Amino acid sequence: MADLPEMLAELQSVADSPKKMLAKYLAQGKKVVGCFPIYTPAELVHAAGMIPMGVWGGQVNPSVAGQYAPIFICSIMRSCLEFGMLGKYKGLSAVIMPILCDSFRGMSGAWRVGVKDIPLIALIQPQNREVDGAREFLAAEYGVVKEKLEEIAGHKISGDAIENSIAIYNSHNATLREFARAANRHLDVITPKIRHAVMKSAHFMEKAEHAAKVKDIVLKLAELPEHKWTGRKVVLTGITAEPGDLLDILAENKIAVVGDDLAQESRQFRTDIPAGQDPLDRLAGQWLSRSACSVVHEKTSARPDLVIKLAKENRADGVIICLMSFCDVEEYEYPLLAKTTAQAGLPSVCIDIDQSTENSGQARTKLQTFVEML
Ligand code: SF4
Repeated sequence: MADLPEMLAELQSVADSPKKMLAKYLAQGKKVVGCFPIYTPAELVHAAGMIPMGVWGGQVNPSVAGQYAPIFICSIMRSCLEFGMLGKYKGLSAVIMPILCDSFRGMSGAWRVGVKDIPLIALIQPQNREVDGAREFLAAEYGVVKEKLEEIAGHKISGDAIENSIAIYNSHNATLREFARAANRHLDVITPKIRHAVMKSAHFMEKAEHAAKVKDIVLKLAELPEHKWTGRKVVLTGITAEPGDLLDILAENKIAVVGDDLAQESRQFRTDIPAGQDPLDRLAGQWLSRSACSVVHEKTSARPDLVIKLAKENRADGVIICLMSFCDVEEYEYPLLAKTTAQAGLPSVCIDIDQSTENSGQARTKLQTFVEML
């Protein structure tokens, strides 16, 4: 087994350079299918023997995406489209796009005209999850996705193969939750940037491979004495907490991350696929079980309640709300989140997350002030 810094550096490299992983899998003769945020049935891609790879954009000042995406679309969708139009996702056999918010409605059309060489598989998760038929509808949607993936893979995807992939994904979820707990006992080693890299790298690696690496990290952490952190502790909430500079600012100010409600991180791992008889129905059941997420319609207090619980359980001093610029659903939830956390005695600060700039100057000033208030 490699040593801990080496293991962490490997996942940092994966998180920083997904393109290298794409090249690696293609060189192994594997087909790779892009999975847009936030929730795609990646298990179906996995069951087809292909590699599901997250499509999360990146820091770029768009030069061509403006042809098809307005300036007021969220910055993550603009950067995804920009990268697609510039050929950065070349090699993907297709992309799966869940139409979870209004930005996606425009994006699906923009992708079809702007990135003609990568076919789009779109699906819709029912937002009214309480009506009869919601689960059946989604299982049928997943059936259509499965058929399209079978065409790409060149073979059928068996029920047993999906069951096997579901087991791998549920086990991976448990491993990442275990990592999050272990990280809190070693905040000197697991800096905000490293925590983020371990979680983000999951999007770009085959899940059993990633789980094995994270399990080794957890074992190595267990060999270390528990660290008594003397700095401040926070919980992050939002879509993503990037770029890396932002996380470096936290470390510079002796702020540790002890929990997150980020779409790119823990929202991916906190809801397992439930037991059941039919694999597509089980996948649909996972969507019906998701909660406390800005793209899930439900009672409005669910997310603030979860963030407060997370903060209290992990003795956080405050909450950092990472607000993706031009993300309607996150902006809509912000006022209640800020008010409810304040009522619970948790100070919060709102940081703009904008993939169109590398400049984190404003965030630095806000975080420096925030840490003085804690
Ligand atoms: S949920 Fe927000 S960040 Fe995600 S695609 Fe929709 S608008 Fe963009």
